[in-house]
Amino acid sequence: MRRARFIDPFQPAEVRRLVREFGSPLLILDCERVRVQFRKLRKALPHVDLHYALKPMPHPAVVQTVIAEGGFLDLATTGEVQLVRRLGVAPERCIHTHPIKRAADIANALDFGVRTFVADNPDEVRKFAHLAGQASLLLRVSFRAPGAVCDLSRKFGCDPEGLLALARVAADLGVEVRGLSFHVGSQVGDATKHVEALEACAKLLRLARREKLGSFDTLDIGGGFPIDYGQPVQDIGRFCAPLRAALARLPARVRVIAEPGRYIVGPAAIGVASVMGRAQREGHWWYYLDDGLYGSFSGQLFDHARYPVEPLRDSEERLPSVLAGPTCDSIDVIAENLMLPQLKAGDLIVGRAMGAYTWASATEFNFYPRATVVAVNGRPGDGGSVSALGPP
Ligand SMILES: *Cc1c(COP(=O)(O)O)cnc(C)c1O
Repeated sequence: MRRARFIDPFQPAEVRRLVREFGSPLLILDCERVRVQFRKLRKALPHVDLHYALKPMPHPAVVQTVIAEGGFLDLATTGEVQLVRRLGVAPERCIHTHPIKRAADIANALDFGVRTFVADNPDEVRKFAHLAGQASLLLRVSFRAPGAVCDLSRKFGCDPEGLLALARVAADLGVEVRGLSFHVGSQVGDATKHVEALEACAKLLRLARREKLGSFDTLDIGGGFPIDYGQPVQDIGRFCAPLRAALARLPARVRVIAEPGRYIVGPAAIGVASVMGRAQREGHWWYYLDDGLYGSFSGQLFDHARYPVEPLRDSEERLPSVLAGPTCDSIDVIAENLMLPQLKAGDLIVGRAMGAYTWASATEFNFYPRATVVAVNGRPGDGGSVSALGPP
């Protein structure tokens, strides 16, 4: 019999099989879903180079899948540079976008072959003064997004009003500036902020070129593209429609890049945890899982996310239930007031949309190891190839 091209690792039977093979807790990462996300975003933003930001899920299988799709990478730390270097990624496919770097971080990225960096203040620009000919900059501009779940313009970015002065500092030092970047926030509801930022940057690019402050022919529109956590969000084509219209008004010489993170990996992984034990407390069943808020569900604290959770076992009868993590801390509760079938030790719980900002921010508090990541469908055509990554 001909094997299906890809197995769906999120099917219950497959989830059970992977838990038998790799144990629990697991994070099952489906590279085919990474591909689907990547292609959907590429279709929604044609002519935009997509640099996957490693931060939400710095896993080799995601990096390799994005590269095999013809994508690019957005690196922010020396650890991320080391990871892609080890994987043999061509450095021309990478940019380094952390606005604040130590000299050693810059040296390490340069040694790998990265040539594009980001700065948002004069001190950081000065770190590149002796690197003329080796590195060029994007200047990061700040556009506040109080509505975003995570407003990423509070901590980084130069005010639009101060941008030309910063560009003059760079020009005076002989530091080449190729363009501008921004990141309006993560999991934003619509593209209003992106469009506002894009239009403000288009104007700044024009002014900086007129002053001959650099080539100013690149615009990096950041990330922030939303995914479905059980609450409806705009489909990516619709989300990007106003962005496409704004991009079409840019001069043809401007090369546009984006730095999607969550959108590429969020829907591509599920978390699987097992019931370790249970107790009845005040009329509720409490189920204690082997993963929780200090582990893969850490995004519920750091990323303000809520993952849709469901037991793998189904039944008609449902009882008021609580899902708790394994640690001795009382905040380690994943979800309360759920109606769940009665579970017992060993039953599996699946959390959806757990690819982004979950495992990446998990701790090993109380010595509960991070979930094992199992990457499936890693290369097109090889059916169900699996690679497990244990705790680092
Ligand atoms: C975190 C981050 C991203 C990815 O953002 P998402 O909202 O996950 O798409 C992109 N660029 C920079 C600079 C970031 O810090």
